[in-house]
Amino acid sequence: MSLFITGTDTDVGKTFITASLLKAYLDLGKDAVAIKPVQSGCENSDALDTKVYKSVNPNNNFSPLYALNLATSPHLAAKADGVEIELEKCVNYCNEFLSNHKEVLVEGAGGLFVPLNDNQTMIDLIKRLDLPTVLVASNKLGAINHTILSLKTLKNYGIKTPLLVLNLSDEKSEISRSNIEYLRLNFKGEIVVINSGESIDSASKKLLNFVKNFKPNTQKIDLEFDKNHLFHPYTSSISPLKSYGVKSANGSYIEVEGKTLLDGMCSWWCAYGGYNIPSINSSIIKQINSLSHIMFGGFTHAPAINLGKKLLEILPKGMDKIFYCDSGSVSVEVALKMAIQYQQNKDPNKNKILTILGGYHGDTFGAMGVCDPTTGMHSMFGGILSKQIFAPKPKCKFGEIFDEKTLKPYEEIISKNSDKIAAIIVEPLVQGAGGMWFYHENYLKFLRKKCDEIGALLIFDEVATGFGRLGEYFASSVAGVTPDIMCIGKALTAGYMSFAATICTKDVADTICQNKRVFMHGPTFMANPLACSVALASIEYLQSINFKNRVKDIEKELKFELEKCKKLPEVVDVRVFGAIGVVEIDSEVNVEKIQEFFVENGVWIRPFGKNIYTMPQFNVTKDELKKLCDAIYESIKTRSYK
Ligand code: PMP
Repeated sequence: MSLFITGTDTDVGKTFITASLLKAYLDLGKDAVAIKPVQSGCENSDALDTKVYKSVNPNNNFSPLYALNLATSPHLAAKADGVEIELEKCVNYCNEFLSNHKEVLVEGAGGLFVPLNDNQTMIDLIKRLDLPTVLVASNKLGAINHTILSLKTLKNYGIKTPLLVLNLSDEKSEISRSNIEYLRLNFKGEIVVINSGESIDSASKKLLNFVKNFKPNTQKIDLEFDKNHLFHPYTSSISPLKSYGVKSANGSYIEVEGKTLLDGMCSWWCAYGGYNIPSINSSIIKQINSLSHIMFGGFTHAPAINLGKKLLEILPKGMDKIFYCDSGSVSVEVALKMAIQYQQNKDPNKNKILTILGGYHGDTFGAMGVCDPTTGMHSMFGGILSKQIFAPKPKCKFGEIFDEKTLKPYEEIISKNSDKIAAIIVEPLVQGAGGMWFYHENYLKFLRKKCDEIGALLIFDEVATGFGRLGEYFASSVAGVTPDIMCIGKALTAGYMSFAATICTKDVADTICQNKRVFMHGPTFMANPLACSVALASIEYLQSINFKNRVKDIEKELKFELEKCKKLPEVVDVRVFGAIGVVEIDSEVNVEKIQEFFVENGVWIRPFGKNIYTMPQFNVTKDELKKLCDAIYESIKTRSYK
């Protein structure tokens, strides 16, 4: 089994232990190698750790990927040498060995938070490699503190630490002996004690037991159980579509059954920043340690308030009162209820919702009632859904010349129902799950005007468009139209957990509460502190990555890279808006087949209906975008969707 060797500090004897482990493996006849991807202090070639490995096995002679001159922290040594340590390159370097040898011992540099560059530290490399980790500590005064800090951190990062080596021990020292005793009581894995002055030979014998007996917990994902007992979205329980077992996801990559897939979906609009973002991870850990949940009836807390302040900073002006809820669908339910309760105090005859065809607003009953009746689920639940009013799907595309005549049917349907319409709900500019359609902002300007004229409320469902996907925080900002009620969800937590909010103007909130009424909704997990903390960390993260420029660049690249699809005969339309690229074809895709094609080609793209589309994460590189777009092109060209 391959291992990562780290230390509580620099100079604790990691190299000596790595070499001793190497010897133990070799003595057992294993195909083992030791490597060190990053080493500083190489100007003095005697200090090269790889020399120590070579003393165990002359063939174990691999140069570090980054052999840096100065004997300082890798990030400083790299700067002095005029290079930047790239985590991805370190991962690839190690993976090369991991795929060619049965046992690879990867030695880190220094301790867990030794910087590799300005943003990443050694623990990011350990996490990416996902190897069981050996912690080496120098057994002296302070060892308990340093060891426990390191062990706790490893645990918080989800890294297994089956072995602790108390190196440089001194049997005669009381401190040394009591450290061993204390750590034996407080560490569940194996502890090996190595004394000062011991040889590699002797240390390797002490490590032999661990090497022989250590069985990593390589629990396989039980796909059979999944198939037999777990529902997945929109798939038959009798003959389900294949589900791929995911082990982990980092940055833009998803680890699936021994393959690494480049993510082109952001987990359905959510994970705009990629997976496993350290600052968001920390926010949830910090919050878990003080308050995971408390009822919001009668209590409030800093996470809810701080998130509220942050939201008001970025929401369109006038959006003032926030209702935290559980999911996008629930936020739509809340919005519809707000509109109805508002009209009960204003004009009770107004109890219908108008929407446009081609929309999608969620899977709960209220939300289904305003989804497209054909692509949505009306036929199946028609008898139970309340009947709402449908206007046509907007014809004019976003970014193209607007045709005023296309407003006529809206004018007619709105004036015909003006006394009944409580609210108009739309997904602004982008209709998502209903067909990935991008429409002109003049429709929204028109609907705003009409709502004001007839005393109806305008609801924007920004569950999908919110948080930067179109290059601004919200589609409302792109369109220059502010609604009365707004739904947000999905990317609110960067894909970390289900959470959403419905926000309305002060006027809406206060009108609802006239005549001694209150708004009638109160979810158990309202304003869950973990979710609020994650959402705040997510918005701070979004603000830190210069998303507006990134999305602009992505839009340009997607347009360029998807252009070639237009030449394929089965392609009906290619459209790009912000960080969304859609290729519409002339027939429905065979999801299972095309999915297999994408997975074989190392990308994760999941089409539906006639749309093959990608919504990449905002940190995506040019090369990665090309890979996603090429895969879409090839899937059509080779007819892998049939
Ligand atoms: N509204 C829109 C615009 C959506 O795209 C979705 C989800 N695809 C929802 C609402 C429902 O959100 P959730 O799945 O979180 O309930």
